[in-house]
Amino acid sequence: MVNMNEEQDDSEDDEFWSEDSFAESVSVEEMKEKEKTIHKKHDEDMNFNCRKCDKKISAHNKDWHSMMCDDCFDAMLKQR
Ligand SMILES: [Zn+2]
Repeated sequence: MVNMNEEQDDSEDDEFWSEDSFAESVSVEEMKEKEKTIHKKHDEDMNFNCRKCDKKISAHNKDWHSMMCDDCFDAMLKQR
């Protein structure tokens, strides 16, 4: 099932909880992994390749820019 909102369960709970349960839908493990890289500079740990153009990207870009270099990530955002 593809559901961008991830709010499909417990929808009868009052709205008060809905934002919290949305935040928790990202797994703790996943967040821990990402927290390691959010503090890194965008040009630090250039151990990955952009999934679009194969340019070297950093661990930060891998986790926070959909595994794309700045150029491709930027282009993707503009396409919306
Ligand atoms: Zn790229």
